[in-house]
Amino acid sequence: MIKNFFREDLKDFKPYDAEKNEYRIRMDANESYLHFPDELKEKLLEAVKDFALNRYPDPTASDVCRAYADYAKVDFNSLMAGNGSDELIQITSNAFINDGDKVMILSPDFSMYNIYIKLAGGIPIVFDLDEDFKLNAEELIDNVNREEVKLLFISNPNNPTGGVISRETIIKIIEGCNCIVVIDEAYYEFYGKTVIDLIDKYENLIVLRTCSKAMGLAALRVGFLASNKILLNELRKAKPPYNLNAVTQTIAEVVLRETEIINSNIKAILEEREFLLQGLKEIENIKIYPTNSNFVTIKVNDAEKVNKKFLEEGIKVRSFKAGRLKNCLRITVGSRAENEEFLKVLRRV
Ligand SMILES: *Cc1c(COP(=O)(O)O)cnc(C)c1O
Repeated sequence: MIKNFFREDLKDFKPYDAEKNEYRIRMDANESYLHFPDELKEKLLEAVKDFALNRYPDPTASDVCRAYADYAKVDFNSLMAGNGSDELIQITSNAFINDGDKVMILSPDFSMYNIYIKLAGGIPIVFDLDEDFKLNAEELIDNVNREEVKLLFISNPNNPTGGVISRETIIKIIEGCNCIVVIDEAYYEFYGKTVIDLIDKYENLIVLRTCSKAMGLAALRVGFLASNKILLNELRKAKPPYNLNAVTQTIAEVVLRETEIINSNIKAILEEREFLLQGLKEIENIKIYPTNSNFVTIKVNDAEKVNKKFLEEGIKVRSFKAGRLKNCLRITVGSRAENEEFLKVLRRV
């Protein structure tokens, strides 16, 4: 039987069910709602016009890493580019996890950690955030050291809650945990605080960034990992040689140099977040979790019912059906018109 060749440990695994683009209003995937100005689009077309399609891309993606280094104010030798930070989560998992190794993750947190840990043969150990999705760091550190985990993944700001862990506490975690600590700063731009400046201070720190959220480049698939030389050396062993395609490298490099556009887009998204929050606060019977991201997570009485109404209106939000996030909806900040329409529908239900 062909099934005899399959992995027993993946028997109950479900393929990740990403949404296709078939809704009128997308407020489910934490993408940017903004488009680039026509001048920049022209510039991007120009950049890929005379492309050497027959040649493999730069395996180290050095030009785009230089552009990101300038943007993030780190040494470009501290960076590895990935086909989305998703791939960097996978590379990190593959580089450090042996069969049966334990890895600590928080709940709730980004769902892909769990998947890549298991694919690498590791065992995810879950540490629960409290009722209000706050972290008891002392307890986490105790658990990490008692369980002897190899790796710890934390998204900060947290997806899907939008909450943050202070720099002081992150430092306590890095110093207190006897393992490699990955701080995933996918939403850094909406929060403004980072620990990327500490990658050379701590031997066990990895920081992840992405261009999919604030930068508005989700379609390109590009993310960055920042760490010290010793960890990067190990990580390179698990990196596919040409992981970042040449079109992505070229376009991302141009966009990353457009800091004015990037910053004004971030500002616009933050203003819309305020508008959305203000509107939500005027609606009764919902709990709003504090956010430092480009999304707002709320709790309603019956998320399934509310979500059904949204779908009827062609609006896609992220609805959580079970577990700790039951009855929660995660709403990505949209344009003013989209936010208004979202609020209108929510008011009605
Ligand atoms: C969206 C997201 C990512 C993945 O981003 P890509 O670069 O598009 O792969 C990683 N981590 C968190 C916490 C995210 O929300």
